[in-house]
Amino acid sequence: MKKFWRCFICSDIHYGVKPPEVCPTCLAKNAYVEVSSREAVKIMGAGGTTLTREEFRRAILAFAEKNEFEVNPDKAKVEMLLDGLFANEQNHGLKYCPCRLASGDLAEDLKLVCPCHFLIHETYKNKKDGECWCGLFVRRKK
Ligand code: SF4
Repeated sequence: MKKFWRCFICSDIHYGVKPPEVCPTCLAKNAYVEVSSREAVKIMGAGGTTLTREEFRRAILAFAEKNEFEVNPDKAKVEMLLDGLFANEQNHGLKYCPCRLASGDLAEDLKLVCPCHFLIHETYKNKKDGECWCGLFVRRKK
C-alpha cells in the first residue's frame, strides 16, 4: 500500500510503498519518515504552485523528450486535448484524461491522470504508429 514519506532534512514528500534511499532533492540518505496524508498535502501546498497551460505544455514536452514518444505534432489536436484536461482539472481537481470517464474511486482514477501509463494501451504497444488513447502522445518517428 502506498504511503506518504517526508525527508526530515528538506521536507521533500514521496508517495510510494517505501521511501527512496536517497532524497532526490537534498541527497540525504535514509532520511524519510512516514507522515499522514493530511500532513503531506499541507506540506505540498506550502509552495502554492500552479501549472499554467504553457507550463503544462513545457512539462509534457520535457517528459516526452527523453522517451520513445513525442507530443503529437498536430497542434490543433493538442489544443483540443489541453482544453479537456484543463476543464477536468477545473471541474474535478485533476487533469483526468479527456477521452475516458473517471469512476469516482480515486485510487483507480489516478490511472486516468494525464500523462497516464499509455505504453500499455492497445493503441500504442506493438504499433509502429502507436499513440495514447486520445492521441496526445505518439510514437516518435525514427
Ligand atoms: S490517453 Fe493520452 S491524453 Fe489521455 S491521459 Fe493518457 S496520455 Fe493523457
